[in-house]
Amino acid sequence: MEEFEYGIIGGGPAGYTAGMYLAKQGHSVVIFEKDKIGGTCLNRGCIPTKSFLHSSEVYAEVVNSSKLGVGFDNLRLDFSKVVEAKDKTVDRMRKSLELAIKNSGVITIYAEASVKDKNTIIAAGEEYKVSKIILATGSKPRELKGLETDGDFIKNSDDVLNLQSLPKSVLIVGSGAIGIEWARIFSNFGVEVVITEMAERLIPIADIEVSKRVERIFKQKKIKFYLNDSIEKIEDRTVTLKSGAVVNPDFILVAAGRTPVCPDVSDCSVLGDACGEIQLAHYAIHQAKALTLGIPFDKTLIPSVIYGEPEIAWVGLREQDCDDTCQKKMLPLTALGKSWCDDSTEGFIKVIVKDNRIVGAHIVSKEASSLVHILLTAIQKKLSVDDLKELCFAHPTYAEGIFELLMNL
Ligand SMILES: Cc1cc2nc3c(=O)[nH]c(=O)nc-3n(C[C@H](O)[C@H](O)[C@H](O)COP(=O)(O)OP(=O)(O)OC[C@H]3O[C@@H](n4cnc5c(N)ncnc54)[C@H](O)[C@@H]3O)c2cc1C
Repeated sequence: MEEFEYGIIGGGPAGYTAGMYLAKQGHSVVIFEKDKIGGTCLNRGCIPTKSFLHSSEVYAEVVNSSKLGVGFDNLRLDFSKVVEAKDKTVDRMRKSLELAIKNSGVITIYAEASVKDKNTIIAAGEEYKVSKIILATGSKPRELKGLETDGDFIKNSDDVLNLQSLPKSVLIVGSGAIGIEWARIFSNFGVEVVITEMAERLIPIADIEVSKRVERIFKQKKIKFYLNDSIEKIEDRTVTLKSGAVVNPDFILVAAGRTPVCPDVSDCSVLGDACGEIQLAHYAIHQAKALTLGIPFDKTLIPSVIYGEPEIAWVGLREQDCDDTCQKKMLPLTALGKSWCDDSTEGFIKVIVKDNRIVGAHIVSKEASSLVHILLTAIQKKLSVDDLKELCFAHPTYAEGIFELLMNL
């Protein structure tokens, strides 16, 4: 029987981050992975979707480029190449990750594993003795009653990655990060997109003004959405919503969140999506770092990003969380030279301030995914508004919007 100090079930961001940090500290570590190393993030989530998104954005930009003086007569879209680019990116990244894990000294066993007791893991008929078990078993797409995935007319976020051609129209159920990103990918490619959302606004977990701005942007992009609504019935691929609206999509994409996958065993640490808390790759990675390195971990300071044009990012308190001791300040992107040059003026940078400190940041802008980290640093390190005013921001950038915003506080 092989013996290790740590046995980790699941080779996604939570599992491999914990494994590599523990190995760096000199511990013997074995990771069990039943599918592909990299987990949902690398194989079915963050990376493949961003590759699709990039292709779709290049396409949309070119389609709309004539006003910038760039014209094409024979523009064509070869979706098989879009898929190939996505596959190449995922394969390349997985190979580097496999190598990094191997070089760190972590042993990977490709097999489904189960916990026999707090010191024994079983995989492929073998028993492994370990001092500690970490469960990093991830999550799976949530199924909705009556909308069970059939991989054909009703697809989930895994199925849609295997598309070999683009649909003409799609109905997306849910407007969280996954639904919004796919709405943008499809819409960029010229697919007719309809979203149905049970809540009263798009991206219900976002700051209210972010939701409202995204609704405005979607209307401009002709992405249809029905709020306070859901599917009433499906007959012969005709979908009737509770509101009475009738939609005839080529397929339905169910993007209604994810269910944690976690064996019910005690005396184990649980990391990442399996915890059923914040289901983001960087949350999983940060949690794994906190566990293995003992660094502080503040769940309220995990940034959220929804990709696409423009990006949406936020951290900390939202408007609806605040009382009247908070002050809010918003800068429209139209105030920035860079946004006019980029022909991307629809959006804003907004901060929520309390006692001269930033406590929340909400950005709808190109580069929001990076900008949010400046404000995250300020929040986490408790910098005052005056501290931030001392920084020199380069011109013309989106980041100088933060400076402009703070100057008016
Ligand atoms: C479409 C989509 C887009 C996303 N985009 C983003 C994004 O842009 N940014 C972001 O931060 N997050 C994104 N996410 C979420 C992100 O992918 C997850 O939060 C992240 O992968 C969680 O990491 P994890 O290690 O906890 O779980 P996972 O990545 O799910 O890894 C768990 C691993 O455990 C393995 N496993 C499970 N049970 C067993 C067993 N019994 N034996 C052996 N192996 C087992 C699984 O095969 C899997 O590889 C996205 C998700 C989806 C679906």
